[in-house]
Amino acid sequence: MLFRTNALDDRVGKTLVDNLYTNPGSLTAGAANGIIAALVAATYAANPVIWNVAILLSLIGVARVAMAYGLPRLQVRDTRWLELLYELGAFSFTATVGVFAALTIWYEIPLIAQMLMLCFAIGYGAGMATRNAGRPVISVTGMVLTFTPICVALWSTGDLAARTLAVAILICFLGMVSISMQIFRTLRDSIGAAETSARLAEKMQQLARTDVVTGLHNRAGLNHYLVDHLSRRRDETRTALFWFDLDRFKEVNDALGHQIGDRVLNEVAQRLRSQAKVHSVIGRFGGDEFILACDVRDRREVETIALALLAEVTRPMRLDEDRLEISCSMGVAILPDDGPDLESVMQGADLALYHAKVNGRNQVSFYDPSMSRDLVRRREIEAELRVALQRDELSIFFQPIVDLATGRIRAFEALVRWFHPEKGELRPDEFIPVAEETGAIITLGNWITAQAAKAAAAWPDDVTVAVNLSPLQLKAPGAALGILNALREARLPPHRLELEITETVLLDHSQQTEDFMAELSAAGVKFALDDFGTGYSSLGYLNKYPFGKIKVDRSFVSGPNVGKKSDAIIRAVSGIAASLDMEIVAEGLETIEQVDAVKAAGCTLGQGYYFSRAVPDYLAAMLLAQERDATEPNRAAG
Ligand code: C2E
Ligand code: CA
Ligand code: CA
Repeated sequence: MLFRTNALDDRVGKTLVDNLYTNPGSLTAGAANGIIAALVAATYAANPVIWNVAILLSLIGVARVAMAYGLPRLQVRDTRWLELLYELGAFSFTATVGVFAALTIWYEIPLIAQMLMLCFAIGYGAGMATRNAGRPVISVTGMVLTFTPICVALWSTGDLAARTLAVAILICFLGMVSISMQIFRTLRDSIGAAETSARLAEKMQQLARTDVVTGLHNRAGLNHYLVDHLSRRRDETRTALFWFDLDRFKEVNDALGHQIGDRVLNEVAQRLRSQAKVHSVIGRFGGDEFILACDVRDRREVETIALALLAEVTRPMRLDEDRLEISCSMGVAILPDDGPDLESVMQGADLALYHAKVNGRNQVSFYDPSMSRDLVRRREIEAELRVALQRDELSIFFQPIVDLATGRIRAFEALVRWFHPEKGELRPDEFIPVAEETGAIITLGNWITAQAAKAAAAWPDDVTVAVNLSPLQLKAPGAALGILNALREARLPPHRLELEITETVLLDHSQQTEDFMAELSAAGVKFALDDFGTGYSSLGYLNKYPFGKIKVDRSFVSGPNVGKKSDAIIRAVSGIAASLDMEIVAEGLETIEQVDAVKAAGCTLGQGYYFSRAVPDYLAAMLLAQERDATEPNRAAG
């Protein structure tokens, strides 16, 4: 039924009922008018029945006014109750007004007093029709209750004028019902339209905060809900922020296509949802980064959650027929332990994530204040590295690579050194990664190659120079040409240059890498596979790429893990190297025992402090001269 609340949309109905209480002023005016009119009319009647009804009417009027002001303040929320209470007041008041007016006719009190009451009652009824148009059931019932006793009383007098008035009131009633219904419809429709547009706006906002791919919050949503989450937390609660980054997700996207990429993201989102505690906030922060925030008791719990999340996200995925293994890195920070506000904790988690990635990915890292200090130092290095070249703070040192059979120097590895005016000597391990990150490695690398080639040009023809190449360097446009130019300028024949690259360069199987190596190796440049044994140590690369040398990482020679196992590995690798006509270099030789061990295991070349540290170019030239001087007389004698 159109009249009742439940026939309307609940929210529209609620607004309409609320409207009944929004203007208690008009209700008060009506009640006051009624009370005054009734009391004055009663004084004309001197009739106990009329007096009693006048007092009843006054009491009901006062009660209604009290209700109109009091109920909204009591915060009564139940629409049904509010409507019922209002109806009770309205109906009892209108009925009493109607009965009172009818009584004045019935008891034939002085005409002027009858008129006073009749005018008030009809006016009140008409007023009802408009005031309560939002709830037609009230306005119509109110009019019926007021007008019926009056019409009956008028009709029962038998007087023509009175009966005409009764009919007029009936016609007025019908008119008022129609007006009331019209107002109701207009009111309902406009409130409905406002509601619809408000809901639409809410929906739009919801959409603006949602990530289309995963359905999680997007960056804007995350911000909104994190702020909201934190504003509702109590002082003693801790909130942990887990920041994820899928490792090498770009490669998944490039190799398998964006559709599969999206499905992977969706799967990860699904897993996060399934693992999350209730009241967690989860979102995707740009490409392949996710954030999960939840309240925790202590650090222990944070660690448990972090490991569980990592395990869940990295669990192998099944996409149609394909099985996919995605690893991921995670940074964790806790509020308020690691920062007083959202911004600082976000920064902390981001830093921790960065550390997890730098330390080899596929791991969790918890924020630690030293990370901020590291970052400051990195930023300094980043800024200073740009000018270090111009200020002549960088130089190239050379470490000999020695033939283990003859003891003669066969090559020098060029190792960059930075003598910082304030920080002292900086290790390449500290600044090369920064240069790689900022792209400065291209300029730096070109400079190193040119310097190394220049120095090597002064050495005897049978001594080569080895230069380390960063992955980024050989992907730069014109990389091979740059190296050939450097050789030409230094007048160094290409076969005397050896480029050391690590396995990570080969992992992505890029055409650029293949072309780079093919072009240079066609020109005569040699290649060595550096740090062998630290990565995947895939022997497949030895076959596919033109390597002439394998450098076994120094962790196999010195350090805590050296023993039978590493010895066996060196033996196996040198066996393969020998059969492929490659040389094998042992790095990091510091003692004669180590030298003997790697020699026995089949290594042909050695490098390490036992022979010499990396030295400046003039000392390298001197080492060579000494060696030649020492062997010359022998040769003359032989
Ligand atoms: P790497 O290519 O494995 O270089 C060998 C590192 O081992 C050098 O450290 C060298 O000084 C050190 N080393 C040599 N013999 C011994 C020994 O007997 N015991 C010990 N404990 N260490 C020894 P360095 O010069 O600090 O270089 C570290 C890394 O920095 C290099 O590792 C290389 O990856 C990178 N790097 C150095 N120079 C360059 C460069 O010019 N360009 C590029 N792209 N990377 C460079
Ligand atoms: Ca090297
Ligand atoms: Ca190495």
